[in-house]
Amino acid sequence: MGAFTCPMHGDVRLSDAGPCPKCGMTLVHEEARFRLVRHLASNPLMLSVMFALMFAAMAGAMMLMR
Ligand SMILES: [Zn+2]
Repeated sequence: MGAFTCPMHGDVRLSDAGPCPKCGMTLVHEEARFRLVRHLASNPLMLSVMFALMFAAMAGAMMLMR
């Protein structure tokens, strides 16, 4: 038993695979998604890359506000 969920919309949960009703993205199996998150979180390199991307996005947003 499982559900398919959208990578962008956590509130979208369907019992069948298919496109997301909100954005059209291919739904992924809930457990596969958690596995991916766990995989990313367990990789220090990936964590630092994600942190750097977040920092770059914040810096970019701050420059746009000026
Ligand atoms: Zn979506």
